[in-house]
Amino acid sequence: MGLIKKLSSELANQIAAGEVVERPASVVKELIENSLDAGATRISVLIEFGGKRLIRVEDNGSGMSPDDALLALKRHATSKLFSVDDLGAIETFGFRGEALPSIASVSRLILCSRLTGKETGTEIRSNAGAIESVHEIGMREGTTVEVVDLFRNIPARQKFLKADAAETSQVSRIVTQLALCYPEVGFALTNRGRKSFDYPPVSGWKERFYQIDRKRSQLVEVQKEAAGVSVLGYIAPLAGGDSTRGPQNVFVNRRIVKDKTISHAIHEAYRQATVKIRTPEVHLFIEIPSDRLDVNVHPTKAEVRFLEQSMIHELLRRALGDALSRVDSTPIAPKFDPDEGHSMFNPTISGFVEDLGVVGTHVKPKEIGQAEKLGINVSEVLDSSVLKVNHDEAIQSDQPVFPMIPLGQFRDTFIVAIDNEAISIIDQHVAHERVLFEQVMSRLTSGRLEGQRLLSPIVIELQPGLRDVLLLHGENLKRLAFEIFEFGGNSVQVVAVPALLNLKEATQIISALAEDLNGLRDESSVDDALRRIAATTACHAAVKANDRLTHEKMSFILSELRRTNYSTVCPHGRPIMFKISRRYLERSFERS
Ligand code: ADP
Ligand code: MG
Repeated sequence: MGLIKKLSSELANQIAAGEVVERPASVVKELIENSLDAGATRISVLIEFGGKRLIRVEDNGSGMSPDDALLALKRHATSKLFSVDDLGAIETFGFRGEALPSIASVSRLILCSRLTGKETGTEIRSNAGAIESVHEIGMREGTTVEVVDLFRNIPARQKFLKADAAETSQVSRIVTQLALCYPEVGFALTNRGRKSFDYPPVSGWKERFYQIDRKRSQLVEVQKEAAGVSVLGYIAPLAGGDSTRGPQNVFVNRRIVKDKTISHAIHEAYRQATVKIRTPEVHLFIEIPSDRLDVNVHPTKAEVRFLEQSMIHELLRRALGDALSRVDSTPIAPKFDPDEGHSMFNPTISGFVEDLGVVGTHVKPKEIGQAEKLGINVSEVLDSSVLKVNHDEAIQSDQPVFPMIPLGQFRDTFIVAIDNEAISIIDQHVAHERVLFEQVMSRLTSGRLEGQRLLSPIVIELQPGLRDVLLLHGENLKRLAFEIFEFGGNSVQVVAVPALLNLKEATQIISALAEDLNGLRDESSVDDALRRIAATTACHAAVKANDRLTHEKMSFILSELRRTNYSTVCPHGRPIMFKISRRYLERSFERS
């Protein structure tokens, strides 16, 4: 009981210290960061019961002398004797120098450290921040910190911890993220005696990424550099697999960062391509000169402030947009068993990308033109190197772009086509839908969309709520050549529809539009609404499954598709194309 009393002022400090020691994962983060600071090249983390019972972080870094080890732990304890002024001075260092004492004050902590070049090490045991013993011990060079019974002495904090499994997964996530930041350092995680992973040091983040995600099938590579900022990474393609939800890891200058500008740019890049709402899997590594970044805006440095926010936003949006539009097929992942002795650390980037199943990219001449067009718009924020990069990419792409030749239809629903590199199977409806969607969207910005007046207006009865939704969007609908008026009761009168629609569709599409617009969230913009209307229009105007197509029509759809920006998915996010690559065929027939 006496102990608890003695702690109370320390407890106050703890609470003031804020989020540094919030849960096992945050302890692990602080300890690993210390190991990294100490120049470790191998860091092993071990946890028991989600880290609540035990966290052990072992490193082969520079270690500490006995005096320093004691000091590192004691600092907080002695801080009780400091004046308020001194505390203010500590504050200015953010949380530097507070992590170890903070952790020690809420656990039993055993610190073992042996300074490089010394014969022996020191073991310090503390309980709730009070040093209990100091011993000389034999150990390897480096430092091991063991945190036992985290928050045992602070039930209020302990109460907020989640179930073991949840805490474990947070620890695993943080170790993985740090491992991605520091590929040159080996990381291992052991949970309840079982090795969760063990990544030896590698030369770059791509190799590390591969260690972490060896079975990863479909991710698109992002690579862009402009105005001294570089963006590298892997992101979920528009089509296939679970492309709408996934982890989002963003690193800025090797720091894990959560940033609104960045998330917004990611969202925008995907939204440009489809109307589907998503938080896709994204791993981005952003490097920016440190003088253009403020990292000291958050206690655990999880947030940053960019000095040129709009430039970063635009650069990211375009980096992702380019990557998404360049990949013009639904990638087929080569299946391989990770235990099959597949070379794990593929030294070449291209080999790595291929093994990940990321498809080769075809650069379409039109896109370069579009990039140029875009470039003019944003030339104030981006320096001209962006355009240069785009051109370079185009020139470097040694794959000539051949038009696809349609061979015929399969079950009047899929177009089978070939080019020099692949046999493609295209869903005729979604392909046409994508083509029409982009047409509608570009006419919307460049001029007016052509409408057709109905000879006799049709009256459609809708559900009460839906009628109001339609009327509410009257202006937006008008921009897309729909003219719809109130007609008493729950009915609306349709006077005109876009010219590209088949009149027979009119009734159907009006109901579909009402449903679609009803699904919009309150905070959605006019732009969102317009995109939805365009998507629904395109869907109804497109050829359908089971429609017999002439050869000309197939050729037309394919050549138009080639001109679109995002030929992998329809505006609603469905995949358009399935490719069987030459390589895949050659492998299957043992020709390579
Ligand atoms: P900070 O890292 O902000 O300095 P900490 O409380 O995390 O504060 O650590 C205090 C000090 O203890 C560090 O500055 C460092 O000198 C020493 N230290 C902590 N962990 C290690 C380690 N794993 N290896 C070597 N020195 C360490
Ligand atoms: Mg530290």
